[in-house]
Amino acid sequence: MSLTLRQKTIAEKLEKGFDIKKWQDWKWQIRNSIRTIEQLESIAGLEFTPEERVQLEKTIDKFPMSITPYYLSLINIDDFRNDPVYLQAVPRASELIMNEGDMSDPLSEDKDSPVPFLTHRYPDRVLFHVSNLCSMYCRHCTRKIKVGDKDSIPSFEQLQPAIQYIKENEQIRDVLLSGGDPLMLDDDKLEQLLSAIREIPHVEIIRIGSRMPVVLPYRITDKLVKIINKYHPVFLNTHFNHPRELSSISREALAKLADGGIVLGNQSVLLAGVNDCPRIIKRLCQKLLISRVRPYYLYQCDLSEGLTHFRTPVGKGIEIMESLIGHTSGLAVPTYVIDAPGGGGKIPVMPNYLISWSTNKVILRNYEGVITTYKEPDSYETTFCDRNCDTCNLQLNLTIDESNAPIGVQMLLSDEDRTISLTPADNKRMIRRH
Ligand SMILES: *Cc1c(COP(=O)(O)O)cnc(C)c1O
Repeated sequence: MSLTLRQKTIAEKLEKGFDIKKWQDWKWQIRNSIRTIEQLESIAGLEFTPEERVQLEKTIDKFPMSITPYYLSLINIDDFRNDPVYLQAVPRASELIMNEGDMSDPLSEDKDSPVPFLTHRYPDRVLFHVSNLCSMYCRHCTRKIKVGDKDSIPSFEQLQPAIQYIKENEQIRDVLLSGGDPLMLDDDKLEQLLSAIREIPHVEIIRIGSRMPVVLPYRITDKLVKIINKYHPVFLNTHFNHPRELSSISREALAKLADGGIVLGNQSVLLAGVNDCPRIIKRLCQKLLISRVRPYYLYQCDLSEGLTHFRTPVGKGIEIMESLIGHTSGLAVPTYVIDAPGGGGKIPVMPNYLISWSTNKVILRNYEGVITTYKEPDSYETTFCDRNCDTCNLQLNLTIDESNAPIGVQMLLSDEDRTISLTPADNKRMIRRH
């Protein structure tokens, strides 16, 4: 794959007598990442006013910058202040504006961490922070307060307690390698980790969350794919936010992964000024499918410090979902989620399609505004479920497992549990009763 003129210019400025082999080497890209304002001016040819320069320096002091030469090369310098790549990669003074309600750990990932490097929030899956490093520091990072903090990759020994925890908790059937970016690990280290996790019998699937296909597609080498391919089923979720990011090099990386049998998904974040437009998200999702990437989540921007200028109202997300559902392939429609502050996890948000309801009919509306009735069955025999598959004819044959007892609203709906309401622990009326 040949380089664009822009890439050649940047490459030549980074290293005289440049050769393409180096540019395509992911470690060269990381070594040559852009970390200062002077480099933005001298290498990328961006021009700032003196005031802007002062502001940017101040911002970088609090939230560091790092941009791979490749990702930098995607910026359209003629209109860089509105460029979606620029806006995700280059700091803005507005990052220093603190808002009431901003939090340093809005998702309470630290509180839900039973051992270092692991977040165990949901019953059957864990988030495994195997690297504190990223090849590019996204300006909208939800963990941006930690970026550049302990800028390191934990050793395999340091990860042992987490691996032990997964071994000891048999309900964990899904391990999500996250970070930082797990693909910052060397091939050998990654393989060591994948193989240790794959050895645990109750781990059914492994997931990798990585932005490498977007910001450093050269990381996706044939060797990497070969390694991952040995530990299937492996899923990889990446993070495209704008159709402009799907360069030919990125698409080639995605094709390699897909050819390696790795199931690809995408998690976008809704960002003001970058992709808060129904048509941008629709085109992005359609183009992802062409590269065999299934749109998975569309995130409402978190309440982390320094993200104020990126946040949109929730209504923008609902408007986008309205413009997708029915209007394009169901495969192109992600789930719009708000990650609940305080550690409540991801909560899906959707336009309403169920308009009304009686004892034997539901009234629905579709994407065109057609209002329709669905007549419910006259006779439906409910089966009482006591979670004892031996007495049920649905042929599931699971053994009763108390660790999987129903919780939350699911529990209120269940047959066997007698709970009739969920009440907050500090409910005054209940406290009076005691
Ligand atoms: C997002 C997330 C997961 C995975 O959630 P899915 O909905 O299964 O993709 C797991 N653990 C934590 C802490 C998360 O934030």
